[in-house]
Amino acid sequence: MFAAPQTESVALADALGRVLARDIPADRDYPPFDRAIRDGYAVRGADTYSSATLRCVGELKAGDTPTAAVEPGTCIQIMTGAALPDGADAVVMIEHTQRSGDIVQLDRATKPGQHVVLRGSEQSASQTVLGKGTRFLCSEIAAAAQVGAAAVTVYAKRRIGILSTGDEVVDFTSVPGPFQIRNSNSASLAAQVQALQAEPIALGRANDTCDDLRDKVAAGLRLDALVISGGVSAGKYDLVEPVLRDFGAELIFDAVAIRPGKPVVFAICQGKPVFGLPGNPVSTMVTFDLFVRPALEILSGAEPGPLLFMEAALVNRLSEKPGLTHFLPAKAEYGEHPLVTPLAWQGSGDIMAMTRANCLLVVPPDRETIEPNERVLILPRGLW
Ligand code: AMP
Ligand code: MG
Repeated sequence: MFAAPQTESVALADALGRVLARDIPADRDYPPFDRAIRDGYAVRGADTYSSATLRCVGELKAGDTPTAAVEPGTCIQIMTGAALPDGADAVVMIEHTQRSGDIVQLDRATKPGQHVVLRGSEQSASQTVLGKGTRFLCSEIAAAAQVGAAAVTVYAKRRIGILSTGDEVVDFTSVPGPFQIRNSNSASLAAQVQALQAEPIALGRANDTCDDLRDKVAAGLRLDALVISGGVSAGKYDLVEPVLRDFGAELIFDAVAIRPGKPVVFAICQGKPVFGLPGNPVSTMVTFDLFVRPALEILSGAEPGPLLFMEAALVNRLSEKPGLTHFLPAKAEYGEHPLVTPLAWQGSGDIMAMTRANCLLVVPPDRETIEPNERVLILPRGLW
């Protein structure tokens, strides 16, 4: 539905979090040779069934070129990472041997293939190592480095407009009046966008008037996507939905059965995805992660990652209003098994409670109370 982003080349050192736009091929087989993965002796596996004694005829360390072959009745001492010599098909771990002079005594037989990773078994030279659409995490950086991809072609960062609404909201660099509040949502949303390796574009704040909101939404629609905070509830000054309709937006949904965050607007407006998130700061952060993050991942050319829930045992009894799925700030601890304790909080405006939480505890909509020791799902916090 959305055109693929532009592409650009970046140094591998700058690729963390970026999305690969061109397949990276293997430059050779991996491993490039039959590799010993233990320190010990390279042997012919079949020999070890007939005799427990072998004669050691040489030594190979990682990086050496094997010159001699392992003939029947002999072995070669070998270190982890070295290439298996001709004739050998297994490694006997040093711990299972005793040596005196060049005679090696084995305390057990070893089957062919033992402690050896065959050439090309991890990756064959004809295959793609990393396919386009892959996001660079540490392991992808290692894979690209392994095949010598010093520069990689990635999708250009999407430009995401961030707009806060509310007459009471002032820039966080200024001193608020007695009944005003600083704009924390623009800051947290920008950080969440950056954590996805997209580019936040600050559109500031709109007053709770249709005219001001319209001007700022128009600016946002020139970008790749727009995220608005506040102004989506049912109050007299919640004007995001009517203004989006003025722009001819197709509203996909405007409420979700969760708390925090019941009013969440998702619309397609002039071909651009637009999100209206509730203004309460914890709601803004949580609904971004649940709804905006997957959308921005798709927009960035990546596969959306699943929400990776974990199970933990509840420490204290919990009771919540049924009918909604609750995401409560909570603290998980890992002992013999994971435990989770919901934190005291004052509701979805309580940013400070979120800073003490390392996960969200999920209370399903059909549960009014959950007893201690019951298993619940938790959603560990990532970089947000
Ligand atoms: P709203 O969704 O516009 O009704 O706002 C809900 C609550 O969130 C109100 O208490 C607002 O003052 C607060 N709020 C709205 N926008 C922001 C913002 N940008 N930063 C911090 N708090 C906000
Ligand atoms: Mg408001």
